[in-house]
Amino acid sequence: MAICYIALGSNLGDRKKNIKKALGHLAGTKGIKIEKISRIYETRAVGGPPQGKFLNAAIKIKTSLSPQLLLKTIKKIEKDSGRRKSVRWGPREIDLDILLYESMIIKTRGLVVPHPRMFEREFVLKPLREII
Ligand code: AMP
Repeated sequence: MAICYIALGSNLGDRKKNIKKALGHLAGTKGIKIEKISRIYETRAVGGPPQGKFLNAAIKIKTSLSPQLLLKTIKKIEKDSGRRKSVRWGPREIDLDILLYESMIIKTRGLVVPHPRMFEREFVLKPLREII
């Protein structure tokens, strides 16, 4: 089982419900066990068009899924949790990002881990600090 950290964010619709829903989907996925959940923080959107504030959280999971399969899974969960819009940097019902996967460094076209922008994003680091 690999230890992995995932960031969750939402700034459209019922933000808290969107995050809870995504957590429910993650918890119900075979091969994923949620170990720790951070508190939920409200943060201002960084970049992109003017948009509402985000709620952000981070979780620690244990998983038997490979990084690629985990990415596929979180993308499906984004869809199932009601994500409709996909404007880059735009508002979204739910956003899930793989922050860290063990100590792996991954640089493929579809997946970059550690998440390239995590170290400059307080809204990622703050919840992550709580659970790491
Ligand atoms: P976003 O609009 O922020 O949800 O961007 C998602 C896209 O970023 C996905 O299609 C992934 O292929 C890509 N991506 C690259 N690295 C990561 C990562 N560490 N976690 C999640 N998505 C990633």
